[in-house]
Amino acid sequence: MATKFRKIGVLTSGGDAPGMNAAVRAVTRAALARGVEVMGIYGGYRGMIDDDMIPLTAREVSNKISLGGTFLYSDRCLEFKEEAGMQKAIATLKRHEIDGVVAIGGDGTFRGATDLAARGIPTIGIPGTIDNDITATDNTIGFNTAMTAVMENIDRLRDTCESHARCNVVEVMGRGAGDIAINTAIACGAVDAVIPEVKFDEDACIEKIIRLRREGKRNFIVVVSEGVEDCSERLAKKINNITKELSEKENNPAMWVETKFCRLAHVVRGGTPSLSDRILATKMGVRAVDELLAGNSDLIICEKAGEIVTTGIFYSQVLDRMYKGTLKEGMLEKCTEEQIAEMKAIIEEKKRVFAETYKLLCDVTA
Ligand code: ADP
Repeated sequence: MATKFRKIGVLTSGGDAPGMNAAVRAVTRAALARGVEVMGIYGGYRGMIDDDMIPLTAREVSNKISLGGTFLYSDRCLEFKEEAGMQKAIATLKRHEIDGVVAIGGDGTFRGATDLAARGIPTIGIPGTIDNDITATDNTIGFNTAMTAVMENIDRLRDTCESHARCNVVEVMGRGAGDIAINTAIACGAVDAVIPEVKFDEDACIEKIIRLRREGKRNFIVVVSEGVEDCSERLAKKINNITKELSEKENNPAMWVETKFCRLAHVVRGGTPSLSDRILATKMGVRAVDELLAGNSDLIICEKAGEIVTTGIFYSQVLDRMYKGTLKEGMLEKCTEEQIAEMKAIIEEKKRVFAETYKLLCDVTA
């Protein structure tokens, strides 16, 4: 173990996620157990620029494992993206003799982490985001809790849909990723899901709702990922209007599937982290400290097939961009042939899993 680490910093940045506190606790306890002091940096990278931080003791992080949000607070700090801001941040770290940083957040947070690493500050990222949109890891901290929160809310909507024989189109968070939407759609018995990863047949969805109503189905839930633009509200109106016209044409009020729209938004970002998120946060937090102390930097901690592994931040960014089709010029040239082949295989597998999961949903709503 390298001995140069006497003090590390830990921060939470970008969109908050349940389990971030559990990760901060794990980082703190693991570091202290290895004889390394910890500074908790407030408000993400802003706390580095403004010198807003406190020493974290073992007791300071006690009673935090079950707490939602982030007690270190989070911020979106644009100043850190500029060289001057970053130099201010680095000067603060030097003043406090902080030898390395653990940054908990999403892809923006990792871009900041890689910039710090490039300027000589060893930095390790931990994926903390409800969206599960970091391709290199199977799970991000907060994803499981957010899905449970979505499920609980949709169950409530479904109760009232059943009472009133209505449909509810529910928009859920996820940024560009349909992970939350597709999984909660299955868990809630939704009639359909609209996600960026699978082509949606709107007419087929409405036809299915009409057919099921003829068969006597009262409640309908359609889950829409926020990543699908101009969909949820419009789709709700369309289901409502088409079925209303049909009911008038057939002179059959039962064929009107009155449809409401609901955006769950930030409701699902708070709350007590689930068991699996607390365990994931604990494993990732401890591993992040071990990686730093072993002299590693510019990595994120990932979970792959149940194992905690590491991935280079640059590799992770290329993988995300390749997946979204937003690769920048010259990016692939910095990767080896093996890496590119591996990335293509990961993306193919992810696409296959999405198609299979959507098929699973269709199989039980037919
Ligand atoms: P997330 O980490 O959830 O993706 P953001 O995209 O808002 O959230 O990023 C969090 C923070 O990370 C930003 O507010 C900024 O301080 C920092 N950051 C984002 N992008 C960059 C970048 N290109 N260079 C340096 N820092 C960045």
